[in-house]
Amino acid sequence: MSVEKFDAIVIGAGMSGNAAAYTMASRGMKVLQLERGEYPGSKNVQGAIMYADMLEKIIPDFREDAPLERHPVEQRFWMMDDTSHTGMHYRSDDFNEAKPNRYTIIRAQFDKWFSRKVREAGATVLCETTVTELAHDTKGKVIGVRTDRAGDVIFADVVVLAEGVNGLLGTRAGLREMPKPETVALAVKEMHFLPEEVIGERFGLKGNEGCVIEAAGTISRGMTGLAFLYTNRESISLGIGCLVSDFASTTESPYALLEAFKRHPSVRPLIAGSEVKEYAAHLIPEGGYKAIPQLFGDGWLVVGDAAQLNNAVHREGSNLAMTSGRIAGEAIFQVNSRRDPMTKENLALYKTMLDNSFVVKDLMKYKDMPALLHTNSCNFFMTYPQLISQAAQNFLRVDGTPKIEKEKATTAAFIKARSRWGIVSDVVRLAFAWR
Ligand SMILES: Cc1cc2nc3c(=O)[nH]c(=O)nc-3n(C[C@H](O)[C@H](O)[C@H](O)COP(=O)(O)OP(=O)(O)OC[C@H]3O[C@@H](n4cnc5c(N)ncnc54)[C@H](O)[C@@H]3O)c2cc1C
Repeated sequence: MSVEKFDAIVIGAGMSGNAAAYTMASRGMKVLQLERGEYPGSKNVQGAIMYADMLEKIIPDFREDAPLERHPVEQRFWMMDDTSHTGMHYRSDDFNEAKPNRYTIIRAQFDKWFSRKVREAGATVLCETTVTELAHDTKGKVIGVRTDRAGDVIFADVVVLAEGVNGLLGTRAGLREMPKPETVALAVKEMHFLPEEVIGERFGLKGNEGCVIEAAGTISRGMTGLAFLYTNRESISLGIGCLVSDFASTTESPYALLEAFKRHPSVRPLIAGSEVKEYAAHLIPEGGYKAIPQLFGDGWLVVGDAAQLNNAVHREGSNLAMTSGRIAGEAIFQVNSRRDPMTKENLALYKTMLDNSFVVKDLMKYKDMPALLHTNSCNFFMTYPQLISQAAQNFLRVDGTPKIEKEKATTAAFIKARSRWGIVSDVVRLAFAWR
């Protein structure tokens, strides 16, 4: 009796898994994709900004039928204290281009659409199927998977692990270590529904224009973290995330932080009268370049969040996931086309291609940033936001105090809080980590 064998098995139908499965199936490979969720996207959480260029490289005409919400024309970055925010603000009509660069999306809808494309490209997609184990031959090469459905091993030449940040399969199989608490953030998110025209009025948007707000400061209670607010067509996504290690060393809870963010005087009017219909919690890999595990081996590759490919500085994850998935698919296709075996040596092509892409180049650029922010979180997320807010208020409040005295008071407040040496050292370390 012959046993069915696939060219490739992809574990997971998120951004990276769909990109890998589509890339291989559309090139004629025999692909099986397994997803534990009831449908693709049912388990997945994102803000969510999706970056068009990376999807265009996989499905060039995606704008024809992908479920896209709004294209951001405005980005605000807020440094918050408990009652105020100091902001940077960029808005440009250039973002109203024929093919916008970014869109907000709702993952449950988007992943379903992406998965339909994967199926149309010829892959077999099985949902409600959890891969429980990788199967190995006697030499340790991955040769397939076992699932929670009845039956034996499902065989394939290569297995792509696109199982997301937890990556339990890879960890259990000894292919990578469990992510450390200081390299993953726990994020919570809510969807607030409002009529389309109310969102347009509140944020000054017309048509499908969107607005992005990202915020740091005392809202994370001195922990390394960030809050966000994104406009969808008829809803607003907002959330906050902080490092797991920081949560572990405080009594703060993610939902208490989210409640405080929603109650903040800068946020409350934006969501007033909205109806909350969904909430979710999820991990985000934030260890950067130094947290990237072994990416390939005999018969396997790892992509997306499972490979810790996430740029926390720019809040980009889905684009790194799609790109690593696509590159994995292209590397596998090249090895397959040469009829070479899927050995560690041949699959090293994936890493070479990934190293040459923006994915690894960007993570390498910020390689020192996660540790710097983590070890100085109280200064960067508490002390400086408070000082900057006080300085702004001092500057703007006209109360008869001579300006020179106001400037002296602001300088003295900074020196008292951090000392001259402390400030110089923070600026230098930040500049080095950013370079
Ligand atoms: C709150 C939040 C906000 C974010 N905002 C943004 C943003 O605005 N922009 C951005 O670019 N990125 C954002 N990200 C990051 C982005 O969501 C991730 O980088 C991206 O989803 C990673 O895709 P992935 O395919 O690697 O993993 P996932 O999307 O997590 O997909 C993994 C899939 O594998 C499945 N799976 C897991 N184990 C098994 C198994 N054993 N068997 C079968 N299936 C399995 C899961 O069900 C899931 O469908 C955000 C993340 C969070 C949590």
